[in-house]
Order: sequence, then structure tokens, then C-alpha cells
Amino acid sequence: MNSNRFKRLGLFFLIICLITVSFFGCKKADKDLTASLDDLSRLEYQDSENKELGDIESIIEYGSNGLVAAHYPVFDKTNIDLTNKKIINKHIEEFKKNVASSSSRDKNYISELHIDYETYSAPNNIVSVIFNILENSSYLAHPDVKIVSKTFDLSDDKEITLDNIMQGEYLEYIAQISQAYFKENAIYKDNTNESIFKEGSYPSVENYSNYILKKDSIIFKFQKYQLFSGNFGMPSVEIPYIDLKDYIKPELLQAFTGEILNKTDLDIKKKPQEEKPRHDITIIKRDIDPSKPMVALTFDDGPNKKTTIPILDTLKEFNGVGTFFVLGNRVSNNMDILERILEEGSEIGNHSYSHKELTKLSYTELSDQIVNTQNAIIKATGIKPRFVRPTYGSYNDNLKSSIGMPLILWSVDTIDWQSRNSKKVSDHVLGNVKDGDIILMHDIYESTAEAVKIMVPELVSRGYQLVTVSELFETRGETLKDGRAYFHKR
Ligand code: ZN
Repeated sequence: MNSNRFKRLGLFFLIICLITVSFFGCKKADKDLTASLDDLSRLEYQDSENKELGDIESIIEYGSNGLVAAHYPVFDKTNIDLTNKKIINKHIEEFKKNVASSSSRDKNYISELHIDYETYSAPNNIVSVIFNILENSSYLAHPDVKIVSKTFDLSDDKEITLDNIMQGEYLEYIAQISQAYFKENAIYKDNTNESIFKEGSYPSVENYSNYILKKDSIIFKFQKYQLFSGNFGMPSVEIPYIDLKDYIKPELLQAFTGEILNKTDLDIKKKPQEEKPRHDITIIKRDIDPSKPMVALTFDDGPNKKTTIPILDTLKEFNGVGTFFVLGNRVSNNMDILERILEEGSEIGNHSYSHKELTKLSYTELSDQIVNTQNAIIKATGIKPRFVRPTYGSYNDNLKSSIGMPLILWSVDTIDWQSRNSKKVSDHVLGNVKDGDIILMHDIYESTAEAVKIMVPELVSRGYQLVTVSELFETRGETLKDGRAYFHKR
């Protein structure tokens, strides 16, 4: 239903665009108008969905100096994990510095840094990580998008480059294939005589530094403005390893191409990956006394193995439940936790795919953030979330109607992400809680898991029933309506 709504909105927008274009009747207007709509932002920034390897860590901050949502992989490998964390930290620091130095000029603009990533597994225990970095700030004329990629050898816990895999004049050959691809491609070919293309595709290590090694092929990605003007986004070229066999090091040739040097007919059949069958989850109908006080504990930005599981343990011990507003990009790595949340009577809500500031997005981007998360959760659990918690608590009338689901905000904000102090968080809840409150916490901090251990027994001993958001409204006879925002149910 929701994806239909998005389709309808998209169609509506397209029609408006076409009417406007035909009204102005000029080719220039056509291009500019299209550029301001969905297609361009799609080209510029793709959400990351592929996370073949590693666990996901997230840094999410709501500072007055800017919003940060940065996701990165961890492999339990000391050097590799440190390298990735350094990349993330470097960008966050630079962003904060930029925001701080420009904040006096633009008090009303809230800047946003968003980093997501993809991981790909390649032969020989090699993994590629590509970070998509989006900076949306008042000091930039347009959102700045760029990519950073790294390739690692998991066996040796170290970063590797193409030089470790290939030999000879491989760079020249790769440049030749890439240039030919763009020259033959209808979208790009008219722009391949420009000097920007010649310089950006010249066979240098730097020009070909962003690549992803996959199982059967390598993808070279190019920065925005590296080969073409900005409206072409970030183009890429995919080359099967078999086409590079003359340049792959002999000792790796069989692993990458299935070919042995001097050739044989060795047939390496790949076993298709079997998906673990998900069993059906039955939602428990719990007994709740509507005349007694109740409170809805809610947890955003997870799930996270280290911290969501202890929270579930505490809730279970005291016969309570909560509501977990999960990020879509954390779902595939944490399917078991999602199952457990539902099996134990807790609830799952939608908190976007990768924690972008939703009010700044085009319809297409918004649809990606919301619908992809719904789909990820449905795929993991078979259960469709009923509501959305907007990222950073930020929403407006437009967002309410575009999302077309109830928005769940809160009446008690623990600010746990800032204090990271279990006593402060539990004191805040116990000192402010009232019947019918919705309490905001984040299940990605150990301090919050500790705070839950303190507050839950106390809330229970004060007679509070710990309920889900749905239970809170249902037992008090209110039906949540699409396109409306809710803060509590007294
Ligand atoms: Zn959040």
C-alpha cells in the first residue's frame, strides 16, 4: 500500500514536471527541472544495500552542530577494523570542523553528514568495502557526494591494492576497457572527447583507486565530476576477471577466474547459497490491564548484538516488552534479533534505512528509506511494521502525508546518546515518567542497556506495565491513523 502511495506521488510529480516543461517549452528548462527531481539524486547517491561480510556499527549524533549518521563494517580484525573506523572518524571530524566554522553565518541551517557502505566478498578471503559519503551543508552549494573504497585480505588482516592481485601493464589495459565502454555507451559517448574525460580516465593509480572486487568481476567507480559533468553522477565500469586473466598473478588465477595457468577444463561449480528458512512468528496477545499505569519504552537506531540482546534479556526477566525502531541497513546482519524481538512480544517499527534526515529527501529517496526498510523487516520476520519514527525527530506536514503511516515520536527524551551514562538515563526516566509516556532511548549504547537494567525493575515495582506502542494505544481505545504524529497516550 505504501509503495503504491509513493508510486502515485511520483507519478503526480512527473505529471507536474511534464506540464511545467511543456509550458516553458524549452530544452534547457527540461534538463533543469528533471535535475531538481528524483532521477538526479538517484544518480548522485545510491543507498547501500550490499553487506555480504562483517557486522555493522553505527555512529548517530544529533548535535546542534549538525546531524551525523555514519555506518561502517567490523570484521573482528584489528587492523582492518581500525582502518575503516579511521576513515569514518576523519570525515566526522572534518564535517564538525566545517560546521563549527560556518555556524555563525547560517544559524538556521542544520547540516547533515551521512555515510553508508557496502561490502563485497571476493575470492581468496578478500573483501571490498565502499563508503558512500554525503555531506549536506549550508557552506556547500550542493550536497557533496563522494566514494572511498578499500580492499582487505581477511586472512592476513591487512589492506591490499590491485598491485597485490595483478601484474604487468594492467592499469593501461583497465583504462583501455573503461574508455571503450564509455565511448560506446549511448549515455556517455557524446562527452568522451572532453578533456575532463581524458584526464579522469587516464591510466593512473589515482584515477582507478575506487573499485570493488566481487566474486566474478571488478567494478571501477568514478567520482562525480571525475569523467563528466555533475549530472552524470558517479559512473562505473564492471570487468569480469576472466577478461583480465592475462594480468592476474598466476598464483591467484585459479581462485579468481577458475582457470589454471596453461589452462585445463577444471570445472568449479559454485554451490548456490541456501537461504536459511525463516520460521513463522506468532505474535503473542498479552494481557494488559487498561486501568493500570503503563509506559512504552522505545529503542532507536539498532538492532545491535552487543546492546539489543541485553535489553531484551532485561525486558524478558521482568515480563515487559518494548518497541524497537530499527534501521533497514542493520536488518540483514541481525535477523535473529528481529525474530527474538517479535517472539517475546516486543514490537518493531521503521526508523528509515540508513538514518537520513527525512524532511530533506526527494520522494524517491524517501521511498527508498521507508519502503526498503519495510521490505527488509518483512523479509526477516514476515511481519510488516505499522509505524515510522522519523530520524532526528524531524518531521513536517509534507513528510507526514508522504510516508502515509503513523509517526511515533516521544514524550520523554533520555538524551542517552549524549550522556552515555546509565545513571543519568535511568534517573531521567524514573524522575519524569508518567502514565502513558513514550520514552526515547537508543539500543546501540552499552550505557543504555545498563540503564534499562536499573529502570525496568523500578518501573515494574511502581506498578507500570511495560507495553509496546501498539498496545499502549490499542488498550486505551485509540486507532493510530496514517499521516498523524503521536507523542504519548495519557
Ligand atoms: Zn535515530
